[in-house]
Parts: sequence; structure tokens; C-alpha cells
Amino acid sequence: MADGIQPQPGIMDIALYKGGASHLDGVSNVLKLSSNENPLGPSDAAKEAVVRATHDLNRYPSTDHAALRTAISEVWDVDPDRVFCGVGSGEVLKLLADAYAGPGDEVVFTEHGFAMYPIYARACGATPVVVPENERVVDVDAILAACGPKTKLVFIANPANPTGTMIGAAEVTRLAEGLPSQALLVLDGAYAEFVDGFDAGKALVEARQNVVMSRTFSKIYGLGGMRVGWGYGPQAVIDVLNRIRGPFNMSSAALAAAEAAVRDTAHTEKCRIENAKWRDWLANALAELGVPSDTSTANFILARFTDEAEAVACDAHLQTAGIIVRKVAGYGLPHCLRITVGDESACRRVAHAVAQFKGAV
Ligand SMILES: *Cc1c(COP(=O)(O)O)cnc(C)c1O
Repeated sequence: MADGIQPQPGIMDIALYKGGASHLDGVSNVLKLSSNENPLGPSDAAKEAVVRATHDLNRYPSTDHAALRTAISEVWDVDPDRVFCGVGSGEVLKLLADAYAGPGDEVVFTEHGFAMYPIYARACGATPVVVPENERVVDVDAILAACGPKTKLVFIANPANPTGTMIGAAEVTRLAEGLPSQALLVLDGAYAEFVDGFDAGKALVEARQNVVMSRTFSKIYGLGGMRVGWGYGPQAVIDVLNRIRGPFNMSSAALAAAEAAVRDTAHTEKCRIENAKWRDWLANALAELGVPSDTSTANFILARFTDEAEAVACDAHLQTAGIIVRKVAGYGLPHCLRITVGDESACRRVAHAVAQFKGAV
């Protein structure tokens, strides 16, 4: 390529995002616990909706996503006019960065924050600002101390990935109230549905002008393959996002699947209850083997080992047992492994393999 042709500043500083691995050479019956996917899969109604959508694949999809926004508004008691639908919540987060930050601006997130936040920041030319956490918990004071006149966006996930920890509503409110006037707080609620009764920041979005929340169909709804997410924010922000998204960003199959999934509240509830049950069982089983974790509010646990060498060795042992979990050294947690909560047999298989590793069986 001609030397003169160069991407925008910042883009070549981006390291490629690595998704959770999904296969192991020479191993059949692989158990993938590296991407926080729902072991129960999506609602049957969502699968049927995808099949029905095949009858109209020659037609362009809805541009206003009205049916899905209506379903979301009915189930989550939000204003449908302020719901924005994206290709995964990733698109919502990326468009927020593209719309509100650029060269010379700062995007703030925490040291163990989601690996996509620095990518969104660099892709729009902004400068990522990484803030310490307090023992794997988002530290509101540290974030506020890092904010200044250049801060345009603050990203936090609540519950957080990969720590699984949360901060309470009073802390989130204090964060929103303390930000400089030109900064928008983005509450990434990818795991919000795993927390019983949690509003994911909805009340704060409605009470203020500087808070947006994002949600996804990739986690509790079991639709990671369909790529659907949504955002909820002040009307002015939603209007901005609608100006820069593709008019047909959501496929008709994805819209139909998500609408059916969000309306199947019985399936969502079942997934939440099963997850909590087996998450707590797995955390206890590993703790008894000398592998502690912070109390998780999501669909994974962050298992802590003595040091990096032990985490690496345990990961290798799990692989020989056909189990793929997530190394999180890139998140500043080299002594930890993030393990998705699978179904009962998956959790028993993990506990057994860790027991073997620890010499307990
Ligand atoms: C999985 C995850 C998402 C979801 O991404 P999608 O694009 O909706 O699939 C967003 N944020 C965090 C923190 C996640 O872990």
C-alpha cells in the first residue's frame, strides 16, 4: 500500500480483541466456559421467531426497530422513544464513543474494565484513561479523581466483567453527580438480568441528563450469535445515536429473535435462578479446594489462585480435561481464571477437574 495511506491516529495502537477460545486440538466433548454464554440456550419462542423470519428474507428489516423497542419498553418499563437498538451492546457502546469522543478527549474506565472500552476509545481517536480499582471493585472516588475538562465518557460495567463484582445504586448516583458537565456516564448492564430486581441504572437514566445504560441479548437471553443489544438514555443522546447508525443495522431475524426472547420472561427467570444456584455451588466447591473468588453477581466466577504460575497450570490441567476457561492476564489479573457458570453437569465437571489439579481426588 502507498506509504501516504494511513489510518486515523490511535487505530494502530489497538491490539486485536481475542474472544474466548472454543476448541482444543484433539479433544472431543469440549466444554466452553470462556465467553459467558447461556448453557440453557435461548427461549424456544426466539428460535421459532428466527424460523418465521426466513419467510421474508428478501425484504429489508425495520429501520425504526419499533416492535422490539415496544417489547423492551413493556417488559422493562422504559420509554420506547428513548430505547436504541444495536448490533450487540457493542455497537451501542462504540457509537457512544464515536459520537461523543475524539482526538484530544479522554475516555475513562477502570483497570479491570471490559477489554472493549480501550478499543472504542482508540478507534475514535480519543485517549484511554485507566483508573485503579479497590480490590477488584470499581472505585468511584478514583474515577472522579481521574476526570477533568477533557473527559467525555466514563464506562463502567455493573456487574463488572471479569470480576463479577458490583457497586450499589448510591455509589453509581454519586459517580453520575460528581462528573464534569461535559462527561457522559455509560452503565454497561450486560449482566444486569442476573441480579434479581436490579434496574441496571434505569431510574438514574430517567432522573438525569448524563447517564446512558446498555443491555445485551448475548448473555442471559442466550442470543450471542444473533448480535442484539440496546441502550436507554436521554432523548438527546438517543437522537444522536440514531443519526450515525446504519439504517438497517439490525437484521430481521435478529429483531424477531430478540422480541420473542424479551417477552419470554419465564425463560429469563428460569435462567437467572439456575445460574445463581450453580454459581454459588461452584464458588463454594472451589473455595473448599483453596480457590477463592469474590461473590459474583453475574454468570461467571473469577477464581483466584496463589500466583500466575498456579493459574496457568490449572488452566492447562482444565484443558487436558476438555474444559476451556478464560485467562484474564490481559485484564491485569494474571493469577485468576474467569469461569462461566455452566449447567449442573458443567459445574460438577469443573469442580472435579480443579479437585484433581489440587490433588484432592
Ligand atoms: C459480553 C459483554 C458485552 C456484550 O457484548 P455484545 O456486543 O452485546 O455481545 C458488553 N459488555 C460486557 C462487559 C460484556 O461482558
